[in-house]
Amino acid sequence: MPLLKKESAVKSSQAPLAPVGGRLCMRSRNSGASATNASNQAAQRRLSFGLGPQVQRQPDSSGSAAAAPSYRDCTESITGVSDANEQLEAARIRARDFVQAAIAALGKTPTAGSVLATALARHFVDPTEEQRVQIRATYRQMLPAFRVPNFICNRQNICGDFQAGWLADDDLIHVCPLFWALDRTCQAIVLVHEAAHDAGINVSGPHPFGRGTATYPAGNKPPPDGETPATRMENADAYGFFAAHIWRSGDTGKSCR
Ligand SMILES: [Zn+2]
Repeated sequence: MPLLKKESAVKSSQAPLAPVGGRLCMRSRNSGASATNASNQAAQRRLSFGLGPQVQRQPDSSGSAAAAPSYRDCTESITGVSDANEQLEAARIRARDFVQAAIAALGKTPTAGSVLATALARHFVDPTEEQRVQIRATYRQMLPAFRVPNFICNRQNICGDFQAGWLADDDLIHVCPLFWALDRTCQAIVLVHEAAHDAGINVSGPHPFGRGTATYPAGNKPPPDGETPATRMENADAYGFFAAHIWRSGDTGKSCR
């Protein structure tokens, strides 16, 4: 559900990701708390040369002969990779699959020891039935975010330390060069994270610490004291990692940073 009226895509194209007064909900590679406004621009600049590890791309095993769409501004000169359209298409489909798996799973009652029960405990801190209904509704609201025209690629010099971001000003999901260094699972998790913002999660207030921090540890660790269903339901990372956990029938050990 778009929160703001879409503005001209041409106008937004390659605009700075953190305009003054603009609302930015991004996933940062370097720290749990991501920037929510222009105040981190200096830090972004300092870190802007910190390219992530290059991950060997796996060949697309889908066997599909269909050509990837041409995503907005996802050219080699902007993204720095020659297969941005193919990667983004595969990640978009995987992310949508993650969300659909989460919607299906959340229609069931978790039984003790099940993947669903484990995933609910780890990512949403054992939500009540009413909260599970809310979480499922949020995932449903995310589905329209996975339309091809909802994505745009940005250059490294305006992305800084960010993998991707949802920008309220243009209501688009911006994909940054650090995204291309992630593996398919993490790329899809990042897109679900941004789709959660697009669906209205954590669009005001500070950006919570994400996966791989003391607040939301990676791996087989329970949520620390202070984390509640309410805090995780406002944490975009929880939607990404929960959905991946369900689709894969197991948590990823990665923090995707
Ligand atoms: Zn975010």
